[in-house]
Amino acid sequence: MLADNVFLKILDGTIPARIAFQDDLCLAFHDIHPQAPVHILIIPRKVIRTHAELRQEDTSLIGHMNLVAGQLARDLGLDQGYRIVINCDTDGGQTVPHLHMHLLGGRALGWPPG
Ligand code: AMP
Repeated sequence: MLADNVFLKILDGTIPARIAFQDDLCLAFHDIHPQAPVHILIIPRKVIRTHAELRQEDTSLIGHMNLVAGQLARDLGLDQGYRIVINCDTDGGQTVPHLHMHLLGGRALGWPPG
């Protein structure tokens, strides 16, 4: 695998990360610039550039990532709630070109987004 972005480098171990969970399908690690007391990124091991490139064959993968997020939220005590965010491409504010799910919690989050 050609590790041409920071998340692929985290996946292949070239760049360190504070790992929260991993299995054969995905990796979860703490965001380096947390926007909330809990801010974890969940990424697939499969190379998928962005949400818009998800395909039918990825149905169980994206479902699994959601269940991992829910389990992490329970493990980390986010019993008042939390937010799942997937930024897609330019208008979505995506900065790293590998699909990732943000799990944010530990404070009341504002809405709507800017
Ligand atoms: P997005 O703007 O949705 O593409 O989110 C990318 C996220 O990756 C941002 O919240 C960054 O703070 C985070 N990030 C970038 N580099 C690293 C890194 N080396 N380790 C952990 N998080 C990172």
